[in-house]
Amino acid sequence: MRADQLEAYLAGLKQQQRYRSRLLVDGPQGIEICIEGNSYLNFCSNDYLGLAAHPEVVDALQQGANRYGVGSGASHLINGHSRAHHALEEELAAFVQRPRALLFSTGYMANLGVMSALLEKGDQVWADRLNHASLLDGGLLSQARLQRYPHNDSAALDAKLQHSHARTKLVASDGVFSMDGDLANLSALARVCTQHQAWLMIDDAHGLGVVGQTGRGVVEVCQLSHQQVPILVGTLGKAFGTFGAFVAGSEVLIETLIQRARSYIYTTALPPAVAEATRTSLRLVIQESWRREKLQTNIALFRRIAIAAELPLLPSNTPIQPIVLGDVARVMAVSAALRERGILLSAIRPPTVPEGSARLRVTLCAHHESEHIERLVGELSMLGLNI
Ligand SMILES: *Cc1c(COP(=O)(O)O)cnc(C)c1O
Repeated sequence: MRADQLEAYLAGLKQQQRYRSRLLVDGPQGIEICIEGNSYLNFCSNDYLGLAAHPEVVDALQQGANRYGVGSGASHLINGHSRAHHALEEELAAFVQRPRALLFSTGYMANLGVMSALLEKGDQVWADRLNHASLLDGGLLSQARLQRYPHNDSAALDAKLQHSHARTKLVASDGVFSMDGDLANLSALARVCTQHQAWLMIDDAHGLGVVGQTGRGVVEVCQLSHQQVPILVGTLGKAFGTFGAFVAGSEVLIETLIQRARSYIYTTALPPAVAEATRTSLRLVIQESWRREKLQTNIALFRRIAIAAELPLLPSNTPIQPIVLGDVARVMAVSAALRERGILLSAIRPPTVPEGSARLRVTLCAHHESEHIERLVGELSMLGLNI
Protein backbone atom coordinates (compact mmCIF):
# COMPACT_ATOMS: atom_id res chain seq x y z
CA MET A 1 0.00 0.00 0.00
CA ARG A 2 1.18 3.47 -0.82
CA ALA A 3 1.03 6.17 1.84
CA ASP A 4 -1.94 7.83 0.14
CA GLN A 5 -3.97 4.60 0.35
CA LEU A 6 -3.83 4.06 4.10
CA GLU A 7 -6.64 6.38 5.06
CA ALA A 8 -9.11 4.72 2.69
CA TYR A 9 -7.92 1.30 3.83
CA LEU A 10 -8.60 2.11 7.50
CA ALA A 11 -11.98 3.65 6.68
CA GLY A 12 -12.90 0.46 4.83
CA LEU A 13 -12.04 -1.67 7.83
CA LYS A 14 -14.18 0.52 10.07
CA GLN A 15 -17.09 0.23 7.72
CA GLN A 16 -16.85 -3.58 7.75
CA GLN A 17 -16.50 -3.64 11.55
CA ARG A 18 -13.05 -5.14 11.17
CA TYR A 19 -11.08 -2.30 12.64
CA ARG A 20 -9.06 -3.45 15.62
CA SER A 21 -8.13 -1.39 18.61
CA ARG A 22 -6.45 -2.09 21.91
CA LEU A 23 -7.75 -2.03 25.44
CA LEU A 24 -5.70 -0.06 27.92
CA VAL A 25 -5.10 -2.26 30.96
CA ASP A 26 -3.96 -1.05 34.36
CA GLY A 27 -2.60 -3.60 36.78
CA PRO A 28 -2.07 -7.34 36.53
CA GLN A 29 -3.96 -10.10 34.75
CA GLY A 30 -6.59 -11.64 36.95
CA ILE A 31 -10.23 -12.58 37.17
CA GLU A 32 -10.89 -8.91 37.81
CA ILE A 33 -9.11 -6.74 35.26
CA CYS A 34 -8.89 -2.96 35.34
CA ILE A 35 -9.39 -1.13 32.06
CA GLU A 36 -9.34 2.65 31.98
CA GLY A 37 -10.44 2.93 35.57
CA ASN A 38 -13.21 0.31 35.41
CA SER A 39 -13.07 -3.20 36.73
CA TYR A 40 -14.31 -6.11 34.60
CA LEU A 41 -14.86 -9.81 35.11
CA ASN A 42 -12.28 -11.27 32.72
CA PHE A 43 -13.08 -14.10 30.31
CA CYS A 44 -10.37 -13.45 27.70
CA SER A 45 -7.07 -14.24 29.35
CA ASN A 46 -4.81 -17.14 28.42
CA ASP A 47 -3.54 -17.13 32.01
CA TYR A 48 -5.32 -20.47 32.46
CA LEU A 49 -3.67 -21.47 35.73
CA GLY A 50 -3.51 -18.05 37.37
CA LEU A 51 0.29 -17.83 37.35
CA ALA A 52 0.83 -14.53 35.50
CA ALA A 53 0.68 -12.54 38.73
CA HIS A 54 1.43 -15.31 41.22
CA PRO A 55 3.52 -13.91 44.12
CA GLU A 56 6.15 -16.65 43.87
CA VAL A 57 6.55 -16.05 40.12
CA VAL A 58 6.79 -12.30 40.68
CA ASP A 59 9.35 -12.89 43.42
CA ALA A 60 11.42 -15.15 41.14
CA LEU A 61 11.45 -12.40 38.51
CA GLN A 62 12.67 -9.88 41.07
CA GLN A 63 15.35 -12.23 42.39
CA GLY A 64 16.37 -12.97 38.81
CA ALA A 65 16.72 -9.26 38.08
CA ASN A 66 18.84 -8.85 41.21
CA ARG A 67 21.16 -11.59 40.05
CA TYR A 68 21.26 -11.05 36.27
CA GLY A 69 20.06 -7.50 35.72
CA VAL A 70 17.38 -6.86 33.13
CA GLY A 71 18.73 -7.19 29.60
CA SER A 72 20.45 -10.37 28.40
CA GLY A 73 22.80 -8.15 26.38
CA ALA A 74 23.15 -10.31 23.27
CA SER A 75 21.83 -13.29 21.36
CA HIS A 76 22.24 -16.82 22.72
CA LEU A 77 25.11 -17.50 20.31
CA ILE A 78 27.13 -14.46 21.36
CA ASN A 79 27.03 -14.17 25.14
CA GLY A 80 23.35 -13.88 26.04
CA HIS A 81 22.83 -17.52 27.01
CA SER A 82 22.74 -17.43 30.80
CA ARG A 83 22.67 -20.19 33.38
CA ALA A 84 18.99 -19.31 33.97
CA HIS A 85 18.13 -20.00 30.31
CA HIS A 86 20.12 -23.21 30.37
CA ALA A 87 18.49 -24.53 33.53
CA LEU A 88 15.04 -23.70 32.18
CA GLU A 89 15.77 -25.59 28.95
CA GLU A 90 16.80 -28.67 30.92
CA GLU A 91 13.73 -28.46 33.15
CA LEU A 92 11.37 -27.99 30.19
CA ALA A 93 12.91 -30.98 28.37
CA ALA A 94 12.42 -33.13 31.47
CA PHE A 95 8.84 -31.88 31.85
CA VAL A 96 7.79 -32.79 28.31
CA GLN A 97 9.93 -35.96 28.37
CA ARG A 98 12.01 -35.04 25.34
CA PRO A 99 15.82 -35.25 25.06
CA ARG A 100 16.35 -31.50 24.59
CA ALA A 101 14.52 -28.18 24.58
CA LEU A 102 15.52 -24.84 23.07
CA LEU A 103 14.18 -21.49 24.26
CA PHE A 104 12.86 -18.95 21.76
CA SER A 105 11.71 -15.41 22.47
CA THR A 106 8.12 -16.07 21.34
CA GLY A 107 5.98 -18.87 19.98
CA TYR A 108 5.65 -16.97 16.74
CA MET A 109 9.42 -16.94 16.35
CA ALA A 110 9.74 -20.60 17.35
CA ASN A 111 7.40 -21.65 14.56
CA LEU A 112 9.14 -19.48 11.99
CA GLY A 113 12.52 -20.74 13.17
CA VAL A 114 11.75 -24.45 12.99
CA MET A 115 10.19 -24.31 9.56
CA SER A 116 12.84 -22.10 8.01
CA ALA A 117 15.58 -24.31 9.48
CA LEU A 118 14.19 -27.59 8.17
CA LEU A 119 12.54 -26.63 4.89
CA GLU A 120 13.62 -25.08 1.63
CA LYS A 121 12.40 -24.73 -1.93
CA GLY A 122 11.25 -28.10 -3.25
CA ASP A 123 10.10 -29.28 0.16
CA GLN A 124 6.48 -29.43 1.20
CA VAL A 125 4.50 -28.50 4.29
CA TRP A 126 0.92 -29.36 5.18
CA ALA A 127 -1.04 -27.32 7.67
CA ASP A 128 -4.41 -27.88 9.29
CA ARG A 129 -6.88 -25.31 7.97
CA LEU A 130 -7.48 -23.99 11.51
CA ASN A 131 -3.83 -23.67 12.53
CA HIS A 132 -2.54 -20.60 14.31
CA ALA A 133 -1.28 -17.87 11.98
CA SER A 134 2.33 -18.36 13.08
CA LEU A 135 2.41 -21.91 11.66
CA LEU A 136 1.04 -20.61 8.40
CA ASP A 137 3.59 -17.79 8.28
CA GLY A 138 6.39 -20.24 9.10
CA GLY A 139 5.39 -22.35 6.12
CA LEU A 140 5.24 -19.33 3.82
CA LEU A 141 8.60 -17.99 4.97
CA SER A 142 10.31 -21.35 4.47
CA GLN A 143 9.56 -21.22 0.72
CA ALA A 144 8.43 -24.83 0.83
CA ARG A 145 5.19 -25.59 -0.98
CA LEU A 146 2.36 -25.03 1.50
CA GLN A 147 -0.92 -26.89 1.37
CA ARG A 148 -3.73 -26.78 3.87
CA TYR A 149 -5.79 -29.83 4.76
CA PRO A 150 -9.35 -29.91 6.13
CA HIS A 151 -9.50 -29.55 9.89
CA ASN A 152 -8.30 -32.69 11.68
CA ASP A 153 -8.85 -34.80 8.57
CA SER A 154 -6.03 -37.34 8.68
CA ALA A 155 -7.47 -39.31 5.74
CA ALA A 156 -7.33 -36.23 3.50
CA LEU A 157 -3.80 -35.56 4.74
CA ASP A 158 -2.81 -39.14 4.02
CA ALA A 159 -4.05 -38.81 0.44
CA LYS A 160 -2.09 -35.58 -0.06
CA LEU A 161 1.11 -37.08 1.34
CA GLN A 162 0.76 -40.10 -0.88
CA HIS A 163 0.96 -37.90 -3.97
CA SER A 164 3.97 -35.90 -2.83
CA HIS A 165 7.48 -36.42 -4.09
CA ALA A 166 8.98 -33.69 -1.93
CA ARG A 167 12.37 -34.44 -0.38
CA THR A 168 11.40 -33.18 3.03
CA LYS A 169 7.81 -33.32 4.21
CA LEU A 170 6.47 -31.62 7.29
CA VAL A 171 3.00 -31.66 8.81
CA ALA A 172 2.16 -28.86 11.23
CA SER A 173 -0.80 -28.68 13.57
CA ASP A 174 -1.95 -26.91 16.67
CA GLY A 175 -2.22 -29.32 19.63
CA VAL A 176 -5.24 -27.57 21.12
CA PHE A 177 -6.78 -25.40 18.39
CA SER A 178 -6.61 -21.84 19.58
CA MET A 179 -9.97 -20.60 18.28
CA ASP A 180 -12.03 -23.79 18.57
CA GLY A 181 -10.61 -25.44 21.66
CA ASP A 182 -10.63 -28.97 20.26
CA LEU A 183 -7.62 -31.29 20.24
CA ALA A 184 -5.61 -32.39 17.22
CA ASN A 185 -6.32 -35.91 16.09
CA LEU A 186 -2.79 -36.64 17.17
CA SER A 187 -2.51 -40.42 17.08
CA ALA A 188 -3.82 -40.46 13.50
CA LEU A 189 -1.52 -37.61 12.45
CA ALA A 190 1.45 -39.45 13.96
CA ARG A 191 0.55 -42.64 12.10
CA VAL A 192 0.25 -40.83 8.76
CA CYS A 193 3.54 -39.00 9.28
CA THR A 194 5.43 -42.16 10.26
CA GLN A 195 4.07 -43.94 7.23
CA HIS A 196 5.17 -41.19 4.83
CA GLN A 197 8.39 -40.27 6.64
CA ALA A 198 7.20 -36.74 7.30
CA TRP A 199 8.10 -34.55 10.23
CA LEU A 200 5.20 -33.99 12.61
CA MET A 201 5.32 -30.57 14.27
CA ILE A 202 2.81 -29.92 17.04
CA ASP A 203 2.34 -26.46 18.49
CA ASP A 204 0.71 -27.04 21.86
CA ALA A 205 0.56 -23.42 23.01
CA HIS A 206 -2.87 -23.91 24.59
CA GLY A 207 -2.42 -27.49 25.79
CA LEU A 208 0.80 -27.38 27.80
CA GLY A 209 0.20 -26.97 31.51
CA VAL A 210 -3.52 -27.43 30.94
CA VAL A 211 -4.42 -30.77 29.38
CA GLY A 212 -3.16 -34.18 30.42
CA GLN A 213 -3.04 -35.46 33.97
CA THR A 214 0.30 -33.80 34.66
CA GLY A 215 -0.11 -30.91 32.21
CA ARG A 216 2.17 -32.23 29.50
CA GLY A 217 -0.45 -31.36 26.92
CA VAL A 218 -1.79 -33.31 23.96
CA VAL A 219 1.26 -35.60 23.79
CA GLU A 220 0.34 -36.77 27.28
CA VAL A 221 -3.35 -37.22 26.42
CA CYS A 222 -2.40 -39.34 23.39
CA GLN A 223 0.69 -40.88 25.02
CA LEU A 224 3.01 -40.16 22.12
CA SER A 225 6.79 -40.35 22.32
CA HIS A 226 9.27 -37.95 20.81
CA GLN A 227 9.75 -40.36 17.93
CA GLN A 228 6.04 -40.08 17.16
CA VAL A 229 5.90 -36.32 17.65
CA PRO A 230 9.45 -35.28 16.80
CA ILE A 231 8.84 -31.50 17.01
CA LEU A 232 6.91 -30.15 19.98
CA VAL A 233 6.47 -26.40 20.38
CA GLY A 234 5.29 -24.86 23.63
CA THR A 235 4.73 -21.25 24.63
CA LEU A 236 5.32 -19.73 28.03
CA GLY A 237 3.00 -16.71 27.86
CA LYS A 238 -0.20 -18.71 28.37
CA ALA A 239 -0.61 -21.34 31.09
CA PHE A 240 2.92 -20.67 32.37
CA GLY A 241 2.01 -17.03 32.88
CA THR A 242 5.36 -15.58 31.79
CA PHE A 243 6.83 -15.02 28.32
CA GLY A 244 8.75 -16.94 25.70
CA ALA A 245 8.53 -20.29 23.98
CA PHE A 246 10.45 -23.48 23.40
CA VAL A 247 10.92 -26.29 20.93
CA ALA A 248 11.47 -29.80 22.29
CA GLY A 249 12.84 -32.77 20.39
CA SER A 250 15.89 -34.87 19.70
CA GLU A 251 19.48 -33.85 20.31
CA VAL A 252 20.17 -33.51 16.57
CA LEU A 253 17.01 -31.48 15.96
CA ILE A 254 17.92 -28.97 18.66
CA GLU A 255 21.54 -28.72 17.53
CA THR A 256 20.31 -28.12 13.97
CA LEU A 257 17.99 -25.34 15.15
CA ILE A 258 20.88 -23.70 17.00
CA GLN A 259 22.87 -23.66 13.74
CA ARG A 260 20.08 -22.71 11.34
CA ALA A 261 16.95 -21.16 12.91
CA ARG A 262 17.28 -17.50 11.96
CA SER A 263 14.68 -16.34 14.48
CA TYR A 264 16.84 -17.98 17.14
CA ILE A 265 20.22 -16.79 15.94
CA TYR A 266 19.51 -13.18 15.00
CA THR A 267 17.71 -11.95 18.09
CA THR A 268 18.48 -10.97 21.65
CA ALA A 269 17.98 -13.69 24.27
CA LEU A 270 15.00 -13.32 26.64
CA PRO A 271 15.81 -11.48 29.87
CA PRO A 272 17.30 -14.15 32.19
CA ALA A 273 14.98 -12.98 34.97
CA VAL A 274 12.03 -14.05 32.82
CA ALA A 275 13.63 -17.48 32.54
CA GLU A 276 13.96 -17.56 36.33
CA ALA A 277 10.29 -16.61 36.72
CA THR A 278 9.36 -19.37 34.28
CA ARG A 279 11.35 -21.94 36.27
CA THR A 280 9.17 -21.08 39.25
CA SER A 281 5.97 -21.22 37.25
CA LEU A 282 7.03 -24.58 35.77
CA ARG A 283 7.47 -25.87 39.32
CA LEU A 284 3.96 -24.65 40.19
CA VAL A 285 2.54 -26.21 37.00
CA ILE A 286 4.06 -29.53 38.03
CA GLN A 287 3.37 -29.44 41.76
CA GLU A 288 -0.01 -27.77 41.99
CA SER A 289 -2.19 -30.13 40.02
CA TRP A 290 -5.20 -28.68 41.85
CA ARG A 291 -5.05 -25.81 39.36
CA ARG A 292 -5.74 -28.18 36.46
CA GLU A 293 -8.45 -29.94 38.48
CA LYS A 294 -10.16 -26.67 39.36
CA LEU A 295 -9.99 -25.63 35.70
CA GLN A 296 -11.65 -28.90 34.66
CA THR A 297 -14.39 -28.31 37.24
CA ASN A 298 -14.93 -24.83 35.81
CA ILE A 299 -15.05 -26.14 32.23
CA ALA A 300 -17.61 -28.79 33.20
CA LEU A 301 -19.74 -26.22 35.06
CA PHE A 302 -19.65 -23.76 32.16
CA ARG A 303 -20.65 -26.42 29.64
CA ARG A 304 -23.42 -27.79 31.82
CA ILE A 305 -25.13 -24.47 32.43
CA ALA A 306 -24.42 -23.04 28.95
CA ILE A 307 -25.95 -26.09 27.31
CA ALA A 308 -28.94 -25.86 29.66
CA ALA A 309 -29.29 -22.21 28.57
CA GLU A 310 -29.17 -23.41 24.93
CA LEU A 311 -26.06 -21.45 24.04
CA PRO A 312 -24.47 -22.73 20.82
CA LEU A 313 -21.23 -24.33 22.08
CA LEU A 314 -18.62 -26.24 20.11
CA PRO A 315 -17.49 -29.69 21.26
CA SER A 316 -14.49 -28.47 23.30
CA ASN A 317 -13.31 -29.85 26.62
CA THR A 318 -10.55 -27.31 27.06
CA PRO A 319 -10.65 -23.82 28.62
CA ILE A 320 -11.32 -22.40 25.14
CA GLN A 321 -15.11 -22.39 24.78
CA PRO A 322 -16.17 -20.49 21.66
CA ILE A 323 -19.74 -19.38 21.02
CA VAL A 324 -19.98 -19.11 17.24
CA LEU A 325 -22.59 -16.59 16.09
CA GLY A 326 -21.30 -16.16 12.53
CA ASP A 327 -22.19 -12.54 12.01
CA VAL A 328 -19.53 -9.92 12.74
CA ALA A 329 -21.97 -7.17 13.74
CA ARG A 330 -23.70 -9.54 16.14
CA VAL A 331 -20.57 -10.64 18.00
CA MET A 332 -19.43 -7.03 18.27
CA ALA A 333 -22.79 -6.00 19.68
CA VAL A 334 -22.84 -8.81 22.24
CA SER A 335 -19.26 -8.13 23.30
CA ALA A 336 -20.09 -4.42 23.76
CA ALA A 337 -23.28 -5.17 25.70
CA LEU A 338 -21.36 -7.48 28.05
CA ARG A 339 -18.75 -4.81 28.58
CA GLU A 340 -21.46 -2.44 29.75
CA ARG A 341 -22.45 -5.06 32.27
CA GLY A 342 -18.90 -5.38 33.55
CA ILE A 343 -17.82 -8.50 31.67
CA LEU A 344 -14.86 -8.68 29.31
CA LEU A 345 -15.36 -11.27 26.59
CA SER A 346 -13.58 -10.92 23.26
CA ALA A 347 -15.24 -10.99 19.87
CA ILE A 348 -13.09 -12.87 17.34
CA ARG A 349 -13.61 -11.90 13.72
CA PRO A 350 -12.23 -12.92 10.35
CA PRO A 351 -9.45 -13.11 9.28
CA THR A 352 -8.48 -14.60 12.66
CA VAL A 353 -11.26 -17.16 12.11
CA PRO A 354 -12.78 -18.27 8.76
CA GLU A 355 -15.38 -16.04 7.07
CA GLY A 356 -18.85 -16.53 8.51
CA SER A 357 -17.62 -17.94 11.81
CA ALA A 358 -17.25 -14.82 13.98
CA ARG A 359 -17.48 -15.83 17.58
CA LEU A 360 -17.26 -14.94 21.22
CA ARG A 361 -14.28 -16.74 22.65
CA VAL A 362 -14.73 -17.62 26.30
CA THR A 363 -11.56 -18.64 28.08
CA LEU A 364 -11.89 -20.15 31.51
CA CYS A 365 -9.25 -20.05 34.19
CA ALA A 366 -8.53 -22.03 37.34
CA HIS A 367 -9.22 -19.01 39.51
CA HIS A 368 -12.74 -18.35 38.20
CA GLU A 369 -15.32 -19.18 40.86
CA SER A 370 -18.65 -20.80 40.10
CA GLU A 371 -20.52 -17.52 40.66
CA HIS A 372 -18.39 -15.85 37.96
CA ILE A 373 -19.31 -18.52 35.45
CA GLU A 374 -22.97 -18.41 36.45
CA ARG A 375 -22.96 -14.66 36.00
CA LEU A 376 -21.46 -14.92 32.49
CA VAL A 377 -23.96 -17.54 31.33
CA GLY A 378 -26.82 -15.58 32.92
CA GLU A 379 -25.85 -12.43 31.03
CA LEU A 380 -25.34 -14.31 27.76
CA SER A 381 -28.73 -15.94 27.93
CA MET A 382 -30.38 -12.62 28.84
CA LEU A 383 -28.87 -11.19 25.65
CA GLY A 384 -30.79 -13.80 23.72
CA LEU A 385 -28.04 -15.87 22.12
CA ASN A 386 -30.04 -19.05 22.43
CA ILE A 387 -30.34 -21.15 19.31
C1 LIG B 1 -0.32 -17.84 21.15
C2 LIG B 1 0.12 -18.82 20.15
C3 LIG B 1 1.36 -18.72 19.52
C4 LIG B 1 2.25 -17.52 19.71
O1 LIG B 1 2.97 -17.60 20.87
P1 LIG B 1 3.65 -16.26 21.41
O2 LIG B 1 4.63 -16.73 22.40
O3 LIG B 1 2.54 -15.46 21.97
O4 LIG B 1 4.28 -15.61 20.21
C5 LIG B 1 1.76 -19.72 18.68
N1 LIG B 1 0.95 -20.77 18.43
C6 LIG B 1 -0.26 -20.89 18.97
C7 LIG B 1 -1.09 -22.07 18.66
C8 LIG B 1 -0.72 -19.90 19.85
O5 LIG B 1 -1.93 -20.00 20.37
